[in-house]
Amino acid sequence: MKLNFFSLHALLIGMLLFSPVNESSYSAEDKYQLERRQMVTIQIDSRHVSDGRVGVKTESVLEAMLQVPRHRFVPQKLWSRAYMDSPLPIGYDQTISQPYIVAYMTEQLKPKKDYKALEIGTGSGYQAAVLSKLVSHVYTIEIIEELGQRAKKLLTDMKYKNISVKIGDGYLGWEENAPYDIIIVTAAPDHIPPPLVKQLKPEGVMCIPVGGRFQVQNLTLVRKDKDGLVRTKRIMPVRFVPLTRKD
Ligand code: SAH
Repeated sequence: MKLNFFSLHALLIGMLLFSPVNESSYSAEDKYQLERRQMVTIQIDSRHVSDGRVGVKTESVLEAMLQVPRHRFVPQKLWSRAYMDSPLPIGYDQTISQPYIVAYMTEQLKPKKDYKALEIGTGSGYQAAVLSKLVSHVYTIEIIEELGQRAKKLLTDMKYKNISVKIGDGYLGWEENAPYDIIIVTAAPDHIPPPLVKQLKPEGVMCIPVGGRFQVQNLTLVRKDKDGLVRTKRIMPVRFVPLTRKD
């Protein structure tokens, strides 16, 4: 068959209009994948010592950071900034943590595939999504009803099946599913909540920012040994939103 200029043109336009894949959505995803790769390489893996911050090297943690589409966890108008080296607002005066901090805290907990994890401060659901790639189940508690409901819906829509979200005061932990191998707290109380220490398994570890509203907060590791003896160690100065209580 011989195609003249016009029929060739019509054929090309037809192919564009009726092609089964939507080229633009492909390239948008590719774009975020590329941004994610750069985030992991530049901000996380090869981070050089600056104010005590060093690169996160655990392969499984880096892989989880590559897999979870961070932009989906921030308001759509901020998607273009989702992979920047900073925290971002998620509404209700709360923030999603800086990617490096998410990776660093996750690495400190040394997650394993058969672990049960508790998170206090669901926020956007991003930290829970990252952790869920590395443990068997994540239980997460959020005190602001609207944020908790939004994260729950997003995580369900995105098919994360091993995350349970509860609305409540995380200071008290989540007794029914205790004890936990690891606990991560992403809002800062001025002291380590005793109920959380109680709900930590022997040989378990908790990572928690501790410090008053206007004080320097210290990211702290709390370890419980096999006999139940608890030791704490400060590992890095940080800035988190405060852990609030009802009343
Ligand atoms: N981990 C989140 C970031 C959380 S910001 C993410 O990945 O997006 C801290 C969150 O802790 C906020 O959403 C805040 O509402 C919540 N928070 C503060 N006090 C709390 C409490 N007592 N119990 C549970 N959540 C609390």
